[in-house]
Amino acid sequence: MDASSQITELKGIGEKTAALFHRVGVYSLWDLMTYYPRDYESFKEPVSVSQCCDGSIQALRLSILGTLELRHVRGLSILTGFAGDETGRIQVTWFNMPYLKKTLRAGSLYVFRGPVKKKGQTYVMEQPKLYKDEEYRKLISKMQPVYSVTKGLTSSGITKMVTKALKEVPEYEDYLSGMDLPLMEMNRAMRTMHFPTNYDEVCEARRRLVFDEFFFFIFGIRRFKEENSREINHFPMMEVSQTCRIIEKLPYKLTGAQMRAWQEIMKDLSGAHAMNRLVQGDVGSGKTIIAVLALVTAGCNGYQGVMMAPTEVLAIQHMESLSRMFAEYEISLNCVLLTGSMTAKEKREARGLIASGEASIIIGTHALIQDNVEYKNLALVITDEQHRFGVKQREILAHKTSRTPHVLVMSATPIPRTLAIIIYGDLDISVINELPGERLPVKNCVVDTGYRPKAYEFIGKEVRQGRQVYIICPMVEESEGIEAENVVDYTKRLRGIFPAEICVEYLHGKMRPKEKNEIMTRFAQGDIHVLVSTTVVEVGVNVPNATVMMVENSERFGLAQLHQLRGRVGRGRHQSYCIFMSGNGGRDTMQRLSILNCSNDGFKIAEEDLKLRGPGDFFGLRQSGDMNFKIGDIYTDAEILKSAAALADQIIKEDKALLLPEHQAMRARFSAYMRNQFGEISL
Ligand code: ADP
Ligand code: MG
Repeated sequence: MDASSQITELKGIGEKTAALFHRVGVYSLWDLMTYYPRDYESFKEPVSVSQCCDGSIQALRLSILGTLELRHVRGLSILTGFAGDETGRIQVTWFNMPYLKKTLRAGSLYVFRGPVKKKGQTYVMEQPKLYKDEEYRKLISKMQPVYSVTKGLTSSGITKMVTKALKEVPEYEDYLSGMDLPLMEMNRAMRTMHFPTNYDEVCEARRRLVFDEFFFFIFGIRRFKEENSREINHFPMMEVSQTCRIIEKLPYKLTGAQMRAWQEIMKDLSGAHAMNRLVQGDVGSGKTIIAVLALVTAGCNGYQGVMMAPTEVLAIQHMESLSRMFAEYEISLNCVLLTGSMTAKEKREARGLIASGEASIIIGTHALIQDNVEYKNLALVITDEQHRFGVKQREILAHKTSRTPHVLVMSATPIPRTLAIIIYGDLDISVINELPGERLPVKNCVVDTGYRPKAYEFIGKEVRQGRQVYIICPMVEESEGIEAENVVDYTKRLRGIFPAEICVEYLHGKMRPKEKNEIMTRFAQGDIHVLVSTTVVEVGVNVPNATVMMVENSERFGLAQLHQLRGRVGRGRHQSYCIFMSGNGGRDTMQRLSILNCSNDGFKIAEEDLKLRGPGDFFGLRQSGDMNFKIGDIYTDAEILKSAAALADQIIKEDKALLLPEHQAMRARFSAYMRNQFGEISL
C-alpha cells in the first residue's frame, strides 16, 4: 500500500463509504492524507450542571435519570429525557436516533458533549455526543480535527480513516533533509496537520506543507518554461482580414486595453518565438473576445487552435457564442466541441474531425487532453480561467504536437505583479486593466438575513422587468453541524414564495454534467428566471441579462471569490445589483464585506483582504478557486512563496532533471506530486 493506492484498500472502506469520500474529492490515500481539517476542536474538562452556560458547546459528566421518552412527529423521531449530576439536571434530546433508548438506561454514566441552551429555567442539550469516561479522558488536551463533510460522512469517521492511512502508508524520506531550511520535517508536518497539540504547531506544520506545495508547483512551471522558452515560432501567422472584420462588426468597440492585449498577441504569433503569454484581466473585462481573435487567426492561417475551459458549462457557452459570431460575420471556419459528457459516438466524431484537420477551432474541457485525441496541426493552445488547471494539463496539451505551439493563458485572478513574476517566471503578461465603458457599476449592499423578504420582493420586481437572478448558497445539501443554506432546500422554499410564473431552478457541482448543461442553457436562454446555485457559476459564465447576484452566507466565502461571483452580473446594459447576505452580522464579517461594498476593483479587494486577514489567519477563508493550491495562499503566504521560488530556481540551475544522488528523494516526491496533484479534474 502506498499513497497512490485507492482508499478502498483501507480496511473499513467499502464501495459505499468510498463513494461518500469521492464526493468530497478523496480517491487515493494521498487525497485522504492531504484532506486537511477545516478547523480544530478542543475538548475541555467536563463541567458540572451548575457551571453550565447558555449558548456554548459543553461537556458534562452525567447519568441518565429515569427512562427516556420516544415520540414521533412528522416522520421525525424524538428521544428526550433528563440527565444530571449532584449539582442539578438538564434535559437531553436526540433526533432520529431511536436506538439510543435501548442503550441509555437510568443510571448510565457518560460524558455528554453538545450545544447547551437555556429554555425557561432548565438547560437543554440537543443531539449530544456520548463518550465513555476513559474515552473522553484521552481526547482532553488534544486538538481534534474537524473536517468538511457530506451527508453520510462524519468528521469522526474521516478522523478514523485518516489515522489508519497515516499508519499504513510508509513514511517518505524528507527531500529537504540536509538542506538548511527552518521547516518542520515533512512526515511530521502531515501528521501534525491532522492531530496537533496546539495552535502554534498547526501553523508550523502548515508552513512546511505550504512550502512543499509552492515548491513543486514553481519547480514544475520553471522546468516546463525552460523547455519552452526561446522555442522558435514553428507556426508563424499573418494578421487576417477576418479578425479586422470581427472587430469592425462587433456591437461594441474594443477597449484600449483589449486592443493592446490583442496587438501584443498578434505580435507574438507573427514573431520569431513561440508565444507564452498570460492575459490577466478582471472579471467582465472582456477576455473571451481576445481569445476568439487569436483562434480565428490560427484557423485562417491554416492551423488548429484549441481553447480549454475549466467546466463543461463554460465550454458549451464558448462554443455557442463562437458559432453565432461566425454565422453572423461570415467566417467559414469549422468549430467542434469535445467534452466529457458527450456520448461515445459524438466524441468519436469530434475526434475524427480533429485528427483529419477538418475542425480548425476546437473548444472543450479536459477531455481535450486525453490520449486518444490527436491533432492534425495544433498551433495554439488557450486555457481559459487557468487557475483551475494544473501546469500538467497545459503541458500535456502543448505536447500533443511534436513542435511547441503558442500558449495563451487567460486569468481573472488578481495576482499582484511581483507575485505573478514568481509564479509565472518569464511568461509574458498582458493586462486588461480597463472595463468596457458603457457598463454601469454594480450596486452593492451588505445586509443581514432580516432583509431577506425585501430582497425577494426586489428580485420579483427585476424578474417582472425581464431580468434574471443568481442566488448563491454555500452548500449542496445539509451537512453535519453546519447551518448554512443549501441549494436544494432553498430552491424548494423559494418556489413556495414566488408565484408559479417565476421559474426557479438549481445548479450544483454534484449534478451530472448533462443536467448542469441543460440548466445553464435554459438560464442563458432566459427560460429560468432565478438560478439557485453553488459557486459552480463562479467561473466565467456569461449571461448579460442577469442583473441580481444575491449571496447567502456570504461570510463563508473569501473576498476574492465573492468578487468573482459579483462578476457574473453587470455584464450588460442594465443596472445590476449585488446583495451580500450575511448569516452572522459580527463586526469582522461586516468590515470584511464592506470592502466589497466600497470597491469593484479585484486588485484592490485582494490587497485589502490581505491586510485584514494577516498571515496565519487561514481557517474558514479558503479562496477555493485560487491557483490549484490546496492549503497555500499566494497572498498571505507570499513570504513562503518567495523562499520556495528561491529554492526552485537554485535547483533548476544545479540539477533541473533531478539526477544527482542527493536529489533522489526530491525527484520521487516531485513525480508523485505531479501525479497526485494534476490528475483528472472535474467540476
Ligand atoms: P471575462 O473577461 O470575465 O471573461 P467576457 O469576455 O465574458 O469577460 O465579457 C463579458 C461581457 O462583456 C460579454 O458579454 C462581452 O460580450 C462583453 N464585452 C467584451 N468586451 C466589450 C467591450 N469592449 N465593450 C462592451 N462589452 C464588451
Ligand atoms: Mg471569462
